[in-house]
Amino acid sequence: MAKVTFREERCKGCGLCIQVCPKKIIRENQEKLNAKGYFPAEVVDMDKCIGCAFCATICPDCVITVEK
Ligand code: SF4
Ligand code: SF4
Repeated sequence: MAKVTFREERCKGCGLCIQVCPKKIIRENQEKLNAKGYFPAEVVDMDKCIGCAFCATICPDCVITVEK
């Protein structure tokens, strides 16, 4: 199973990773604000992740790391 981690403090909430995920398992965590004042992205259902790394590739701020 793939593992996706977010350096949350760097996320600017642009939503690109949310749009590009083919499994639609990324969302904004609206229960938490990061130091920049944004809702950071997170994976809600890691079991469904296929490890494609589209999210990591599209992120302009290098927030996301995908490990297979
Ligand atoms: S690696 Fe692919 S399936 Fe997994 S969260 Fe990122 S975009 Fe979605
Ligand atoms: S693409 Fe990067 S900066 Fe944009 S919401 Fe996703 S993790 Fe945050």
